Amino acid sequence: MNEKSKKFLYEYLDNASPTGFESSGQKIWLEYIKAFTDEYITDTYGSVAAIINPEAEYKVVIEAHADEISWFVNYISDEGYIYVVRNGGSDHQIAPSKRVNIATDKGIVKGVFGWPAIHVRDAKSEKAPGLDNIFIDVGCESKKEVEELGIQVGNVITFDDELMELNGKYLCGRALDNRIGGFMIAEVARKLAENNVKLPFGLYIVNAVQEEIGLRGAEMMAARIKPNVAIITDVCHDTHSPMYDKKKDGDQKAGKGPVLSFGPAVQNNLLKMIMETADNKKIPYQRAAASRSTGTDTDAFAYSGEGIASSLISLPIKYMHTTVETAHLEDVQNVIDLMYEFLVQLKEGHDFRYIK
Ligand SMILES: [Zn+2]
Repeated sequence: MNEKSKKFLYEYLDNASPTGFESSGQKIWLEYIKAFTDEYITDTYGSVAAIINPEAEYKVVIEAHADEISWFVNYISDEGYIYVVRNGGSDHQIAPSKRVNIATDKGIVKGVFGWPAIHVRDAKSEKAPGLDNIFIDVGCESKKEVEELGIQVGNVITFDDELMELNGKYLCGRALDNRIGGFMIAEVARKLAENNVKLPFGLYIVNAVQEEIGLRGAEMMAARIKPNVAIITDVCHDTHSPMYDKKKDGDQKAGKGPVLSFGPAVQNNLLKMIMETADNKKIPYQRAAASRSTGTDTDAFAYSGEGIASSLISLPIKYMHTTVETAHLEDVQNVIDLMYEFLVQLKEGHDFRYIK
């Protein structure tokens, strides 16, 4: 990471890019990656692919998702409190006492998730935060006053938190899931450009929208590009932080390297090639098993059209879907290096089929 990429990382991560409303983030991303790629395509719902060698017949995708979880304004009470529904897997448990940004036609309006004081709660009968009781206060005393601020049903709400470093080793902030992925694939493009690598195939660096509500942007991009190979990056759980269960959630730790998933959606010959690349280049990696599907855009690429050789390289993070998602800086670099080294060794036209 150099000065310029660090500036991009903070600008990109601190910008809000909720599912369905990713355009501002996509613009920041495209502005950064343009210098390292030949051209780009965009689609109706906002996914973007920056392309190297757009004329090539053999197409390789590296992909991350651009969106982040958020809330929608669902109901405004007569007293001026706002009730919400989820946009993606937003966490009701962490909401009380969080500051929020509400995106309205009149711009960002500040608010807070309120909560009754500990003094007035009864320890035995107190309620846990849930969708039925969390609410946002924007400093208004009536529905009319809320509406005068520009707030309407359907406005999108994000937590107001910024990226920071912990102990010089970890990145910590909101929506590392998965804009850290967008950062990493952009850094692969930068590394290819700076090392003057001339790839023998077309490389499509895809930043897909709407992953958090069902891999939707990736489905569209897979159908559009019809690549021969797709390497997806997303986040997975560090199961060494407190209260995880390794028997159930597997054994992955931030700082111990990218996580490679094993599962039916992952093409085994492609996975083998990635592992061999990691071994040759001495890049550490960890293993994880995916029951049925990976739950990431890998599935969307793998099962699109006639099937695309797909694989998943995950970044282990702590506290997923909170505002303090925490990733190890060395893992971030190792994911970038592994994707880069894989691309450098891949031959044009490689056939990954099991039976020929
Ligand atoms: Zn997520």
